[in-house]
Amino acid sequence: MNRAMKKRLKRLLRSSPPAISRVNTLQETVDTIYSQQYRRTLEILDSLAHDNAGTVAKALAHSVHAACAEAQMAATRLYPEVPVQLNCRASCAWCCYEQLQVHILDAVGVAASLSAPLDYQLETRNGNELKKIFRPCPFLGADTRCTVYKHRPLVCRAYHSIDVTECQRVVESQEAARQVPMNIRYYGFPGLVQEATLKVFEELTIDRRPVVLGLAVATLSRDFDRITAHWLAGGDAFEETTVS
Ligand code: SF4
Repeated sequence: MNRAMKKRLKRLLRSSPPAISRVNTLQETVDTIYSQQYRRTLEILDSLAHDNAGTVAKALAHSVHAACAEAQMAATRLYPEVPVQLNCRASCAWCCYEQLQVHILDAVGVAASLSAPLDYQLETRNGNELKKIFRPCPFLGADTRCTVYKHRPLVCRAYHSIDVTECQRVVESQEAARQVPMNIRYYGFPGLVQEATLKVFEELTIDRRPVVLGLAVATLSRDFDRITAHWLAGGDAFEETTVS
């Protein structure tokens, strides 16, 4: 990056993006959420150096989760009637009994928060066996509360069930094609944030595939800095943790 570009970048970093609260229409809100997160992702990646991949990965994870909260506030402003229709409540954990597939950044956020590493060695890549592991989620506490709540993946922040009895039924029945009933309009807002960051990854050829949360956290627990450096350099550090 030449000096003129650096100067411009610094100026952009000092300017404040348009606040979501000043935006009114659905299309404007969607565009703003997406473009702000796209830009934040670029800015954070711009600070990547040979010795700070772990820090950069944590900053990326934090930015997605912070932007998720902003997106949910914007959604609430647009659809004020939705939150009262939602059935998700503290210590309700039906969705935690499913195998959690998340983005790598979600695993980064959880792994960075752990005081003790998650130790797990994958025995087989057999598809059927793979579907059975980490059910329930390894971070579900004995009291059915999330032990990594502050750092929980985006999907755990954004799951907005509109029928908890159906959540229970689909988990207990183990139907092959099961789907938690959700308010898809509201749920889409946090998804926008994630998609903006994943779009940058796609353009830079950084792995954006979904991973099994427990497997990815166990991988990161082995050597957080080395694994994140390999991943952000475009490597396949999470190959063993993908589901497809
Ligand atoms: S991370 Fe927490 S909220 Fe998400 S599935 Fe696991 S226990 Fe549940």
